Amino acid sequence: MPFLGRTFRTRAVGGILRWVEERFGDGAVVLSSFQTQSLPLLHHVSRVVPDMPVLFIDTGFHFPETLQFRDRVAHLLRLNLQVVFVPRTDDCPAAPLLDGTTCCRTAKTRTAGLIFQRYDAVVSGVRRDQTVLRTTLPVLQRQRGGAFKVHPMLDWTADQVHRYIQRYNLPVHPLTHAGYRSIGCAPCTRPADPGMGDRSGRWTHSERTECGLHTEFQL
Ligand code: SF4
Repeated sequence: MPFLGRTFRTRAVGGILRWVEERFGDGAVVLSSFQTQSLPLLHHVSRVVPDMPVLFIDTGFHFPETLQFRDRVAHLLRLNLQVVFVPRTDDCPAAPLLDGTTCCRTAKTRTAGLIFQRYDAVVSGVRRDQTVLRTTLPVLQRQRGGAFKVHPMLDWTADQVHRYIQRYNLPVHPLTHAGYRSIGCAPCTRPADPGMGDRSGRWTHSERTECGLHTEFQL
């Protein structure tokens, strides 16, 4: 896809990250949920753009295992981890309502909106094979305020992610062994159903497959 003078579909992850750093400098950050599947992107970041800040949105509802895994990975890969804490409001109570749309909007998308106001480019590890909505995402996506979302992993498959983690002997989120394949906030995450997609354990009480982070900032 030609954009800003570059063709991204054929570029390797490292090449895209290097271009982002050259193009946006201090205005570029990585946004990660620190799951097992985040490791290939974070590993590339550590090797290609090690100083680029890696933001983690702490909703206050994460599994303790996720926070421990985040800190372990950040230490191992020497990442420039920056935790963004979500302020508590009435929309985001101590225990989220079953349909957490409002909670997600407050905890994730509103916080992400502030991040997009502050930075020029936000890199994330979403892939086309994760949800139907993600199949049509471009590698480079301009947001309402003018900032860009960058998706270097878009064409990777779950199998490629798995093989990359094995090849580089990267750590695995401790809940993966308990059947959790896509891990978000604890109240809204269950082990994935056998034979179903990785995200089948997310928001099992509703039809939702996305929290809004990767769908609400398109032009
Ligand atoms: S995933 Fe659940 S707990 Fe987390 S922000 Fe969304 S509704 Fe709230």
